[in-house]
Order: sequence, then structure tokens, then C-alpha cells
Amino acid sequence: MRVPILAANWKMNLSRREAKNLVEDLLKVAQPFQQNQQREVVLCPSAHLLVEVGSLLEGKSNYGLGAQNVYWKESGAFTGELSSTMLRDCGCSHAIIGHSERRAYFHETDKDCYQKVEAALQNNLVPILCVGESLEQREAGKTKEIVLNQLQGALKGQSLSSGDKLVIAYEPIWAIGTGKTDTPEGAESTIAVLRQELGNLFGERIAQQVRLLYGGSVNPGNIDALMAQPNIDGALVGGASLKAESFARIVNYQTQASLAN
Ligand code: PEP
Repeated sequence: MRVPILAANWKMNLSRREAKNLVEDLLKVAQPFQQNQQREVVLCPSAHLLVEVGSLLEGKSNYGLGAQNVYWKESGAFTGELSSTMLRDCGCSHAIIGHSERRAYFHETDKDCYQKVEAALQNNLVPILCVGESLEQREAGKTKEIVLNQLQGALKGQSLSSGDKLVIAYEPIWAIGTGKTDTPEGAESTIAVLRQELGNLFGERIAQQVRLLYGGSVNPGNIDALMAQPNIDGALVGGASLKAESFARIVNYQTQASLAN
């Protein structure tokens, strides 16, 4: 069984004080361990908050700490960058790689993503690799082609011993921060294609272990329907992760079984 992951991308937001309040409130209101419903929560704050948020999460075994980026070199003259070893040193378990904002504003390519994924895997940092199409690409009927190219570009040739060391987030660019969401069926259909391609790249056993998330205006009102899809194993959440109540509701999404009780 794939343990669902609810990941928070705080982007370039929150002061140290705001972050502390948010984590403390979240820990009070979220109860991710319900009977037979194990869930992983990964908080991805900006770099200046990593150590502090990590210390607030200490001892919380179902919580992980994620960076929003990672550089592939180990150390040296790379001003402004953080290596996967440094992120591990800050307590990180995960790193977002290839977010569409980094691809758009910082010109990250699939090759960059490949090197980042490789460095993360080598240093025991779970990559949360983001893929997604623009509105123009979607309207041209190219969604699957685009996301498959991104997936192959970042993953083909990587060595992966187990699927739980990798997370993929399908995030249509037109849905990020816009209040527009893909339909659960639409997201499922694209994510199922990504899983199929993971099978081609790494074999069926590993493909079935990889957690595939949906991201793009996930909120308390749409999380249940998204999570009811068989291939959607969680969500990468931006705006709605900045409020403890809304992210807690997302973490505590309801399944058909829990609604029936
Ligand atoms: C994101 O930044 O990864 C994201 C999905 O943002 P939002 O939830 O605000 O659309």
C-alpha cells in the first residue's frame, strides 16, 4: 500500500515567527494518524526556516521536512546554492525539484532536474519531482506528451532501488495559484500515464511504489474527490498550506470509508 503524502509548499512566504505559529497550530489541529489511515505530511518552507521548522517537527514520525530546491554539486564556488548534503544537515528528508516557478523564472531545464534528482537520490533525499503543462500546451492537446517528456528528461537513466524513494507531483501550470483545478478524472488520467511510464523506466514493482501527487489549487473543498482516485497518492499544496485550518483539513481528507462511518 502506498502511504499518501500531503506536502505543503510554502514558497517564499512566512517570517520565522509566522512559521512557528503555523507549525504549532497545525500540530494541534491535524491528526494524520487515524485508525488504518497512515498519512505522511511534508512541510517545505523557504531555506531560512528549515532548521527551525525541522526542530518543531522533531519526534513526529509522520512529518517530513522538504526543501524547495537543491543544487547537484556537493560544495564549492556556487554562490547562493544549497547541496543535498547541506539540506540533509538541516534535517531535510525531501526536496522539491523542477517546480514550474523554478522552470519559468530560473530557467531550470529537464537536464538540471536530472542532475538534481541524481544528487538527491545519492544523498538519501526524496525528490518531489514536479511536472506539468501550460494552458497553451493543454489546449493544443499536448498534456501527456509534455509531462512524459519532463518525466523522462529527469528520470531516464537514474538508478532507483525502491519506488518509495521518489515522489512525482503532477502540477498543471494553469492550475497553480489560480483557483482552477483539474478535474479528479482528468488528473487521474494524466497521473495514470505517468505511472505507466515509471513502469517502462524502472519496472512495474517500483512504479507501483512511487507516490504520485496532484498539485494546483488543492483546497479543503476538492481534496476528498482528488484522493478518491486510485492513482492519486496525495497532494502538493501551495496557498492552502499557509493556513493551519485549511491544510489540516487537507491532511485529514475524507475517504469513502471514513465518510460512511
Ligand atoms: C504549488 O505551488 O505547488 C501549488 C500547487 O500552489 P497552489 O496550491 O497555490 O496552486
